[in-house]
Amino acid sequence: MEPTENFFRSIVEASPFPVYMCIGEDKLIAIANDATLKAWGKDKSIIGKPFDEALPDLKGQPFSNLISEVYKTGETYYGNNEPAEFIINGKRQVNYFKFTFQAVRNSRDKIVGVICFSTDVTEIEHSRQAMEESRHTLYNMVKQAPVGICIINSDNLVIEVVNDSYLELVGRKRIEMENRGIWDAIPEAADLYAPVMDNVIETGQPITAKEHKLLLVRNGIPEMVFIDFVYEPIRGFDGEISAVMVIAIDVTEKFLARRKIEEAEERARLAVEAAEIGTFDLDLITDELLTSEKFNKIFGFERNVPHDLFVKALHPDDIELRDNAHKAALISGKLFYEARIIWPDGSTHWVRAQGKVYYGSINKPLRILGTLLDITEFKHLQQQKDDFISVASHELKTPMTSIKASMQLLDRLIKVDPSSEKIPQFISRGNNSLNKMQQLVDSLLNVSKITAGQLTLYKTNFLASQMISECCDHVRLAGTHELELTGDTELQLFADRQRIDQVVVNFVNNAVKYAPESNRIIINISKQDDMAKISVQDFGKGIPAEKIPHLFERYYRVDTSGIQYSGLGLGLYISAEIIERHGGEMGVESEVDKGSTFWFTLPLN
Ligand code: ADP
Repeated sequence: MEPTENFFRSIVEASPFPVYMCIGEDKLIAIANDATLKAWGKDKSIIGKPFDEALPDLKGQPFSNLISEVYKTGETYYGNNEPAEFIINGKRQVNYFKFTFQAVRNSRDKIVGVICFSTDVTEIEHSRQAMEESRHTLYNMVKQAPVGICIINSDNLVIEVVNDSYLELVGRKRIEMENRGIWDAIPEAADLYAPVMDNVIETGQPITAKEHKLLLVRNGIPEMVFIDFVYEPIRGFDGEISAVMVIAIDVTEKFLARRKIEEAEERARLAVEAAEIGTFDLDLITDELLTSEKFNKIFGFERNVPHDLFVKALHPDDIELRDNAHKAALISGKLFYEARIIWPDGSTHWVRAQGKVYYGSINKPLRILGTLLDITEFKHLQQQKDDFISVASHELKTPMTSIKASMQLLDRLIKVDPSSEKIPQFISRGNNSLNKMQQLVDSLLNVSKITAGQLTLYKTNFLASQMISECCDHVRLAGTHELELTGDTELQLFADRQRIDQVVVNFVNNAVKYAPESNRIIINISKQDDMAKISVQDFGKGIPAEKIPHLFERYYRVDTSGIQYSGLGLGLYISAEIIERHGGEMGVESEVDKGSTFWFTLPLN
């Protein structure tokens, strides 16, 4: 027996793990190896003393009772990472132990004591606690995070933690998510995201995505949402992936807002394109000029060219004007000028540039953003209008001067010789001039009516030939030209007699005016299908082919060089409008030096 006990003792002594044995009901400490004494912070003097006496530090802790229990029942007790508090060198210290309390029996199987084998697991326990704590902190952070976070166990894909933001994002209640399989909880996302999740677990590589489109069934209602998300693997203290953290942010609003801006930009771009507006962005620091395709086109260029080439395209007389406008813009913040440019093909065009200056800090002008418009047509019309005003004034002035002269002469004559034979002569001359003025004013009023869309027609039935023979008495009276009426003299028209009369008179007057050397004017009436056609032919100077397309424009006159032929350039414009309102057509065939045939058609019913 002796050698065995000694042998046993020496093994226990040599053990690096705490081993001790208590004997009897008093739990006398029979054996306590060095590892035990060290863990307890005691020396050999405690050997032979009862457990409670030797270790007053452990009072109130379960160990003493546990030993007694094992002593009584013989059932082994397994302690797993249990804390034991000692006072070592005057300091409280908690260590953790994994241990067993086992009954020791004698040869008659009677329990004589209890032996304890233990391991100090304090360090492991500390790191486990730290791990636990950091997990706890993480979970707390997750709970409070303003972004949606969901932590999913990587082994069984059960949701371990989910925060309110995530619940809100997926439109689920906490009980629908917590401790449930992720794809049971959100089945509609499984198709798209299950492979992503598997991949993260398999490779350990996080995955991020931006503005992912996803159809979510939120609170029972399907909704299309856009989500930024991260799938981040979480590793346990053994380094193995234990969970996947899904961080998700609903960016639908941001996405839609951005798309709205993009759409607005697109609309603005289309509007600019449709409005034929060129745009530019001039960097005032580097002098770099960015231009739109339309801008280049307005300058007659096929593609973008350096800034100085654009500047060189300016008409020499307008360079200074443009420079001044740019200088003024730096002060006022606004750029505006109209100038002529010369295209590479040598033609001249008018442009209008408008822009806004953008300033940096200390009010330093950085760039000008602006638009460019081709205003050649507009300038052309403006020119026509100016010409028209001078022609109109001149036209009105002539009969007015004549009226004034007639009145003065009459005034004088009545005072001197109230019964003079010349009086009726002057009155008739004044009347003629007044009629002329009235005609001019009528034309002007007609134009205003047409532009205001107020030209109303009063249609009646009448014989075309009758209307024509009655309307041109003044020509016959003047005796300069012979009017020949040919064709279908029985043709009935249904139209505004007075307006059609006006058109014929205008044709005939022009024939007289622009064919002074010949004396024949042929007016023909014919029926073509369901239209009536009336034409007025003269044998005068004719009209150059290239001018014909413009004849019916407002204020257009073929010969603008002088006042060779009086007129406002309105007659044909008004006539064309009248015919168009009747649903007819108007045209001209003409050859220079041979004469012209002006015609119009009218529907017969
Ligand atoms: P106006 O005669 O007052 O100038 P119109 O509108 O009647 O204005 O005519 C427009 C232009 O068409 C005239 O200025 C003239 O140059 C040309 N024109 C019209 N009729 C004839 C014609 N029969 N022969 C040659 N030129 C004509």
